[in-house]
Amino acid sequence: MKADIHPEYFEDAEVTCGCGNKFHTGSTQAKISVEICSACHPFFTGAQKFVDTAGRVEKFQKKFGGNYFKTDKKAPAKA
Ligand SMILES: [Zn+2]
Repeated sequence: MKADIHPEYFEDAEVTCGCGNKFHTGSTQAKISVEICSACHPFFTGAQKFVDTAGRVEKFQKKFGGNYFKTDKKAPAKA
């Protein structure tokens, strides 16, 4: 390798997730913090989880989550 052009490489960099999971990997950063990892991502857990900001999911569920589509068509529910 050419001298003085490569970043410092940490063989055992610690990755910390928002769920509390920690694991080690190789990186140019000694410590990495992530919001989601393979231990808590819904793709791997199978559980449904919303990664949401500004409460848009809650707003949608509040409007359509109840019996919005079950109401009688003669008397449509007011939003
Ligand atoms: Zn995680």
